[in-house]
Amino acid sequence: MELSNGNYQIDGVSLLDLCKEYGTPLYVYDANIIERQYNRLINAFGNIKVDIHYACKALNNINVLKFVKKLGGSLDTVSIQEVQIGLKAGFAPKDILYTPNCVSIDEIKAAVELGVNINIDNLSILEQFGNIYRNTYPVCVRINPHIMAGGNQKISTGHIDSKFGISIYQLRHLERVVKSTKLKVVGLHMHTGSDILDAEVFLRGADILFDAAQNFKDLEYLDFGSGFKVKYHENDNTTNIEDLGEKISESFKAFCKDYGKELTLVFEPGKFIVSECGYLLVKTNVIKQTTATVFAGVDSGQNHLIRPMMYDAYHHITNISNPSGTERIYTVVGYICETDTFGWDRKLNEVREGDILALHNAGAYGHTMSSNYNSRFRPAEVLIYNGNATLIRRRETLEDLLSTQIEVEI
Ligand SMILES: *Cc1c(COP(=O)(O)O)cnc(C)c1O
Repeated sequence: MELSNGNYQIDGVSLLDLCKEYGTPLYVYDANIIERQYNRLINAFGNIKVDIHYACKALNNINVLKFVKKLGGSLDTVSIQEVQIGLKAGFAPKDILYTPNCVSIDEIKAAVELGVNINIDNLSILEQFGNIYRNTYPVCVRINPHIMAGGNQKISTGHIDSKFGISIYQLRHLERVVKSTKLKVVGLHMHTGSDILDAEVFLRGADILFDAAQNFKDLEYLDFGSGFKVKYHENDNTTNIEDLGEKISESFKAFCKDYGKELTLVFEPGKFIVSECGYLLVKTNVIKQTTATVFAGVDSGQNHLIRPMMYDAYHHITNISNPSGTERIYTVVGYICETDTFGWDRKLNEVREGDILALHNAGAYGHTMSSNYNSRFRPAEVLIYNGNATLIRRRETLEDLLSTQIEVEI
C-alpha cells in the first residue's frame, strides 16, 4: 500500500475506490506480495531441492491457492476439507501434504483414497494405519522435538505439554511400530510453532530431525514446518530468511551426504507467504469521547479479524481517507457486543465519522478465522494483481446466514 497524490493505492488501484465499489468491511489482497514472499523463500534455499508447501489455513480462498500453484508451490493442509479444496484448485495429490491433528482413522482413510501425502502425529493412529496399509502407502511422521519457541502459548507447538507430534523421546516406540507394521516412512516432519525469530531454533530442531532420520531408511523428504516471523509492528524484528536459508542449506547438504541420498527439504509457511499481502478495510461509524479515551467505532470487529483479541496481536492501522489530517490518539474498536478492541492508543490522522481505516497484515488468519457472530455477514475479498482488482468472494447475505437452518414447528 502506498500513498500517491493523497490517495492510498496498491499497484495503482485506489483503496477508497474499492470501498465505494464493494462496500466495507472489505478484505483486499496484493498478489504481488504473495509472489515476492514465495520467491524470497525459494531464492533463500537456492542450492538444494526445496519444496514450499503453502499452509492454506492462513488464507484459503481458492484463487489464492491457484495463484500459489502457478508460482510453483505445493500445499499443506490440516483437514480433509482443505485437501478437497486443494484438489479443486488443481493441485496434484502428490503435491498436497495432509497434516491433521486428532482426526479419526476414517478421515485419514478418506485422504488415502484421494491419494495425497499423509502425515501422522500420534502412535495410536500410526499403528492402525500400519495395520491397514503396511508398506503399500507411504507415510510421513510428525515428530515433536520439544523446542520452546513461538510468540504466544496458543501458537507454540513444541513444548512438553503440546498435543502435537510424536515426542522425540518416543523414538524407540515409534521405530517398533514402524518395524512391526512394515510401514514405509518417506518423510519426517516438525513444526515448532509460529513467530520464531531465531535461526538457531530451526537449526536445533533440524539437528534433532537429522539424528532421528538415521533410523529410517526410506526417507525422501524432511519437513521443517514453518514459524517464520513476519513484521506486524514497525519495531518488530523478523526472521532473516536469507541467513536461515544459507545455514540450513549447509547443514542439510551435510546431512544428505551422511544419509547417502539427496532428500527434498520441505517448508510449510502460511503467515510468511500471505500475512503482509492483506488489508482489512473498515468504515468508522462513530467517534465516541468518553472520560478516558476517544473511541473510533468501526463497521467490523472480532468476528472478521480475531487475532487482536485471541492472540493479543498488534495490527497496524492507517486512516486512508484523511492522510494529511492532524495526528491524534484513538482506541479503535469493533461493533460486536464484546470488548473487541483492534488497537489501543493508536496515533492516527484525525478520524472523522465515515473515514476508512486499513488494518494491516490481515492476509493470514483473517478471513479464514472469521465468523458470523452477532449474525453479521463475513466480508467480501478482492485480489489485486498487476494493476487489476478482482472480486474473489462476495459479501454474505441474510439468505447465506439462514441457509443451513431448518425451521420447524415446536
Ligand atoms: C499452521 C501450520 C503451518 C503454518 O504456520 P504459519 O505460522 O502460518 O507459517 C504450517 N504447518 C502446520 C502443520 C500448521 O499447522
